[in-house]
Amino acid sequence: MSNPFWSPELAQLEPYVPGEQPRGRLIKLNTNENPYPPSPRALEALADKQLAEALRRYPDPESTELCTAIARQYGLDSGQVFVGNGSDEVLAHSFYSFFRRPEPLLFPDITYSFYPVYCQLYSIDYRMPPLRDDFSLAVENYAGPAAGVILPNPNAPTGRYLPLEEIERLLRLQPQRVVAIDEAYIDFGGESAVRLIGDHPNLLVIRTLSKSHALAGLRLGYALGQRHLIEGLERTKNSFNSYPIDSVAQRVALAAVQDSAWLADSSARVIATRERVVAALTGLEFEVVPSKANFILARPRGIGAEDLYRELRRRDILVRYFNKPRISEYLRISIGTDGEMDALLAACAEIIGSRNG
Ligand SMILES: *Cc1c(COP(=O)(O)O)cnc(C)c1O
Repeated sequence: MSNPFWSPELAQLEPYVPGEQPRGRLIKLNTNENPYPPSPRALEALADKQLAEALRRYPDPESTELCTAIARQYGLDSGQVFVGNGSDEVLAHSFYSFFRRPEPLLFPDITYSFYPVYCQLYSIDYRMPPLRDDFSLAVENYAGPAAGVILPNPNAPTGRYLPLEEIERLLRLQPQRVVAIDEAYIDFGGESAVRLIGDHPNLLVIRTLSKSHALAGLRLGYALGQRHLIEGLERTKNSFNSYPIDSVAQRVALAAVQDSAWLADSSARVIATRERVVAALTGLEFEVVPSKANFILARPRGIGAEDLYRELRRRDILVRYFNKPRISEYLRISIGTDGEMDALLAACAEIIGSRNG
């Protein structure tokens, strides 16, 4: 693809393709959104009349109150928090700020498919050490000259969780480089690496309100790390967009992050549903990759993954199919409400039963 008006490199870009956002009343299990409404405190903040009035002004460029509230949740200070327009933006600024070096950036062969896109955008070379056959991560593959390391924990789209001792080993393998841990799904049963920040100047933890806080539409993500890393991100942000977090997002996110009771409750419900679905799919002879996320990666037996994807779609159930090496026989299924998951399980039983019958 090319166009005489485009900068020459633009034609070479292969942009990220997000999961479909269909209209209509599908059971939507394809983009790992939270099936429950956000904290009532967030909704209250949204309805506040003063918020509408504040739209006349530019927002606080530093999101001071929000950064302070986030810092307090983790026992950090506000200078150790950087907020962005979704964690995708925080990731983009991290790639630009830390990974533009002569050596390759390291991330797993099966992971968030936005990483190679940022590499292309910022001309970053990368290498993808393969996960083991069971999709677990072998930390020793991350030694040697590198621009840095990035990985989601739990990983996406596998759902597999890497224990903190392993993250510490990784941090020690690359003491001179940033190791970024993308914790988009950490609230669904994993332990955050945040408590390693004090001892590791190279650790950057990236999180989002999109999944566990049920605020994907608000676009709020953040990074936590020692002050010198946060300063790096601020330099990039202030060379790009002074006001990435609008007034609405600042206020609603503030209320959301302060409601830790809601978070604990809502995550526990998602986890309980996940465990039930794992057991039921295993009963239907799926091979299910162990997950600590709000989705599971599962391989059906007796039917190809792509066929099952299509059959589910015909029944108005949308899951994610990746036509990619190593995972093309799996489906990634987001955890919805109990009712939605019952519909999914019934449909799978019916489709597989009719094939075997
Ligand atoms: C969903 C997701 C993100 C993006 O989250 P936003 O904050 O909505 O931009 C980042 N990393 C991973 C691994 C994700 O799955």
